[in-house]
Amino acid sequence: MTAPRIEAEVREKTFVLKDVRIGIGFHWDRREDQEFEGELDIRKNADGTETAINTLDIEDYLSSVISSEMATTAPLELLKAHAVISRSWAIRAIGHTDHVGFDVCADDHCQRYEGLRRRNERAVRAINETRGKVLMYGDEICDCRYHKCCGGRTEEYETCWEDVHIPYLTSVECPYCGEARPDSSLNDYDLETHDYHDWTVRYTTDELSQIVREKSGKDFGEIEDLIPLSRGKSGRIYRLKVVGKKLTEEVGKELAIRKLLSKSCLYSSWMDIEKTPEGFTFRGHGWGHGVGLCQIGAAVMAEKGFTYEQILAHYYPGAILGIKN
Ligand SMILES: [Zn+2]
Ligand SMILES: [Zn+2]
Repeated sequence: MTAPRIEAEVREKTFVLKDVRIGIGFHWDRREDQEFEGELDIRKNADGTETAINTLDIEDYLSSVISSEMATTAPLELLKAHAVISRSWAIRAIGHTDHVGFDVCADDHCQRYEGLRRRNERAVRAINETRGKVLMYGDEICDCRYHKCCGGRTEEYETCWEDVHIPYLTSVECPYCGEARPDSSLNDYDLETHDYHDWTVRYTTDELSQIVREKSGKDFGEIEDLIPLSRGKSGRIYRLKVVGKKLTEEVGKELAIRKLLSKSCLYSSWMDIEKTPEGFTFRGHGWGHGVGLCQIGAAVMAEKGFTYEQILAHYYPGAILGIKN
């Protein structure tokens, strides 16, 4: 984490970081104290801020990641599926993120890593029972993207990031996340979010014009229209024409659109946009970019008795399990 000043309390075998900001820029943005194990290094940055860097074994890191991403009361097969994808993602990411001075950050930008607070023996068991296992495509470890809820169909990689087609990050149907909400699999603060499979957001023209001005830093004038130019396979918009009285611009990809059209961030960019006499109505589906594993769908699959191998095969078609020593 990086902050103007890091406040840390060192205990016997652990340390506590105070007031850690999580969910940065998203609707669950908040602060909490977090306890960690391993080494702590606090570095001063050129801009006067400080960065706390925690060094620890990757399997210990992973047991905190899966219990930060999902509740440890979740079905074991879900935690095991998550262990495999979080491990694969982390191994690939080391040395390849845009971070300088450390491998991965602790927030949603990389993977949630919220320390020991939520970790318990079930998380550790999921890690142990999948120890070293990764997803492979050919002889490469997969880039295991995942998100909270796809909304009924997952999205292709190229809708959200570079224009590269990744065969196992393709669009698949997900009939699972629309079923009953898997409360026992969701983290305490994720439980505060409701109606993420199908949602509606309404703005008056004034409200939307002000949000767009604040978020873009540009004066579009009154927003007159929002025209989706390109959609991915799930329906997520990745190019949007924003028509203002003073300025018209194209915006993309999906995260830029979600951030521009909300004070924090829209749940997803899969939505129909309706112009009404008062303003705009967005009717959307899903929570997150929609690529790879749908966490809520995977939780429902696990509750239905699917194994972690079956869950992974569903969301990453063509990928197979391998061992990373
Ligand atoms: Zn990061
Ligand atoms: Zn889903």
